[in-house]
Amino acid sequence: MSSEIKRLQTGEPENLTERFASRAAHMKASEIRSLFAVASRPDIVSLAGGMPNLSALPMEMMASVVQKLILENGQEALQYGSGQGHPKLREQICDVMALEGIRAHPDDVIVTTGSQQALDLISRIFIDPGDVVLVEAPSYVGALGTFSQYEAQVVHVAMDQDGLIPDALRQAITSTRAAGRHIKFLYLIPNYQNPAGVLLPADRRTEILEICRSAEIFVIEDNPYGLLGFDRPAPNAMRAEDSENVIYLGSFSKTIAPGFRVGWALVPPALKEKLVIASESSILCPSNFSQLSISSYLSDQPWRDQIASFCELYRTRRDAMLEAMEQHFPKEASWTNPEGGFYVWVTLPPEIDTKAMVPAAIVAKVAYVPGTAFYADGFGSWSMRLSYCYPSPERIRDGIKSLGGVIKKEMERRSIG
Ligand code: PMP
Repeated sequence: MSSEIKRLQTGEPENLTERFASRAAHMKASEIRSLFAVASRPDIVSLAGGMPNLSALPMEMMASVVQKLILENGQEALQYGSGQGHPKLREQICDVMALEGIRAHPDDVIVTTGSQQALDLISRIFIDPGDVVLVEAPSYVGALGTFSQYEAQVVHVAMDQDGLIPDALRQAITSTRAAGRHIKFLYLIPNYQNPAGVLLPADRRTEILEICRSAEIFVIEDNPYGLLGFDRPAPNAMRAEDSENVIYLGSFSKTIAPGFRVGWALVPPALKEKLVIASESSILCPSNFSQLSISSYLSDQPWRDQIASFCELYRTRRDAMLEAMEQHFPKEASWTNPEGGFYVWVTLPPEIDTKAMVPAAIVAKVAYVPGTAFYADGFGSWSMRLSYCYPSPERIRDGIKSLGGVIKKEMERRSIG
């Protein structure tokens, strides 16, 4: 029966699965996508999403930047551009990276549609089905989704309050290789990690770089939050110490605005051509309009001051969240103490299943992301990620109070404490 006849007869859309390529089986919505639909209801305090808070961005200034760009340089801004990205912006990106100790040449920078696209391109270039990628435990859900689509096997490496543990990395490399598996790279977020909120100290950065260099494993350093330190700057980027073995990913999503979708990769020269060709195949070229908007903004506006006001906004929210947690969470709960970025990672007694607890939280008008979303292997069921970036400090306090109540009730129900 043709699909059209079947649809007319049954009224049901055809199931296309049989017609898909086998790789489509690995394209699954992340388990937090449906949660976000609920969490965006206005009556719910969402501590779930990681959306940058744009209330500190002066929109009139942004409008004047964009208007001037179109009036004065619209022919270029609205035209196709280079696959590698606009040369002027690539120079400016080098100035931004210099703030984290990186000395780079604009030729080695590839502009991407957010750093998410860079993750996709790198995965496409490196991962054959079954290859291993080493990843922090827990890690960024968007990276896990990409690695899974390329059929990588994710091996998680333990972290503590100071990020990835070098000894755990050594062990993971040894045991993976002993099992005859091929490790393609280590992916990590050294600054204000998503989801754990922790910061990797300078000595660990050096040690991890040495381990990976001698094991001939590339390091993917994903750094969208590095300039969002609240009290002091983060240590220098890992790429500042090693230009040959580190693939560095940056983004303007958190320091300017994610709507421009401008990120970048800084890669060892031997990799550049493959990355540009892979990018051209998916997008031809990054948006000239977005790139030149960012470029004009960086040339004409006090962008460092703007980052400082973002930091202030997030610091106030972090303080509100941590104070409220001290007040309302049970003593059996523990959490990280972020020095920057957007996230706090909460660990509860192991009997608590944070995924099963979501409906109770929604009834109490608060949302969070259950810990299992950040593991490829189902671990993390008694932890959760809380984001303080978006709601107002008052709403954060209300949300934490409600969530504390939900956790305490769940502990009572299970006779914990
Ligand atoms: N990496 C990490 C760690 C992130 O948290 C995010 C977004 N939340 C990204 C990459 C992707 O960001 P973008 O594509 O907006 O640059």
